[in-house]
Amino acid sequence: MKRYFYLFGTLAVLLISGALLLQTPAVQDTLVQREINQRMSNTPEDLFSDDALRVTLCGSAAPMPIKGRAAACVMVMAGGKFYIIDTGNRSTNNLGLWRIPAARVGAVFLTHFHSDHMGDLGEFNMMTWAQGRKAPLDVYGPVGVKQVVDGFTLAYALDSAYRTAHHGEEYLNPAIGQMIAKEIALQGDSATVLDDGNLKVTMFAVNHAPIHPAVGYRFDYKGRSIVISGDTTKVETTITYSKDADILFHEGLSRNIVKQMEVESGNTGNDQLKKIMFDIQDYHASPIEAAEVANEANVKELVLYHLVPAPPNKVAEWVFMRGVDSVRSSGVTVGYDGLTYVLPIDSKEMYQEDLNDR
Ligand SMILES: [Zn+2]
Ligand SMILES: [Zn+2]
Repeated sequence: MKRYFYLFGTLAVLLISGALLLQTPAVQDTLVQREINQRMSNTPEDLFSDDALRVTLCGSAAPMPIKGRAAACVMVMAGGKFYIIDTGNRSTNNLGLWRIPAARVGAVFLTHFHSDHMGDLGEFNMMTWAQGRKAPLDVYGPVGVKQVVDGFTLAYALDSAYRTAHHGEEYLNPAIGQMIAKEIALQGDSATVLDDGNLKVTMFAVNHAPIHPAVGYRFDYKGRSIVISGDTTKVETTITYSKDADILFHEGLSRNIVKQMEVESGNTGNDQLKKIMFDIQDYHASPIEAAEVANEANVKELVLYHLVPAPPNKVAEWVFMRGVDSVRSSGVTVGYDGLTYVLPIDSKEMYQEDLNDR
C-alpha cells in the first residue's frame, strides 16, 4: 500500500512538473523548433528515385463534402518528376502536407472541366511557383483547357503581381508563375500527349455524356503502367487503353446510396438536390462496373477513387462495395487520400504505403 502511495506521489509530481515545464517559453520554443526542423528537412525525396514508377491518390472524393478527402487528384511520379492528373479542390493542401517538392513538378493533366477536377488549379500554380518551381506550368487537357487556364490566370493576376512586388522578381519571377495551356485534339479516340523515350502519356476519350470532351490518361514508364479513368460510365475505350496495366484508378458511384439520397432529398422538400441526385446516376460507373472494366482489361489492381459519395465509415464502405466481390474477389482497393503504390522497374511486384504516415 505504502509503495503504491509513493508511486502515485512520484507520478503526480512528474505530471505537475511536466505541465509546468510546458508553460515555460523556452521549453515551448524548443518544441516548436523541433517540429519546424522535422517538417522542413523531411521532404520525401525517395519518391523520386529512378528505380520505380509511383502513384499517390491526392484526392479520392468528388463534389460531395467529406472530412479528410480532397476532390479528384492523382499524382504520378516518374523519372524524377511528378505529374498531377486533375487538381480537385483541397488537393493542393494534401501535397503541401506531404511536402512534395515543387521544383520537381512535371505537368498537370485535366480530364474534363467539372469543378471537382480543376477547382485547385489556381492554388496549385500559385503554391508551386511560391515554393520554387523552375519553369512555367504546362497544363494539358482536351479542347477547352485554354479557356480554363485563361480564367484562372485572370482570377490570380492581382495576387501574382502582389507576390512579385513583395518578394522581388529574383524569387517570384512572373514568367515562371505562368501556366501554359496545352490543348490536345484527339486523333480518333486517343492521342499521345508526351513521349520522352521513357515516359509515355496517352489521352483517351471516355463517356461522361452530356459532358464533352472527357478523357482518361494512361502512363507507361519502363514497362510499368497506370491508368486514370477520369469521370466516365463503363466504356470500351477505358478497357482498350487499360489493357494489361498494373493499376487502374477508376471512378465509382454507388447508385444504391445516391438513389437513397435522391429519395431523402425529395422527402425533405429539397427538389434541387433531388434533381441533381437523379441526374448524376447515369454518367458515372458503379463500383461493380469498374470491377468489370478492370477484369476485361486484365489489370492487376483496381483502385476506386472519385467516390460518390465517399464512405465516411466501414459500414457505408460495405454498402458502397456491395456486389463487387462476386465480380472481382481480389485486386480491388477503395482509395483514400495518401494511398501510394510503388511499382519497381524490372519487376512485376507492387506495394502500398500511406504518405500520411511519413
Ligand atoms: Zn467528378
Ligand atoms: Zn465530371
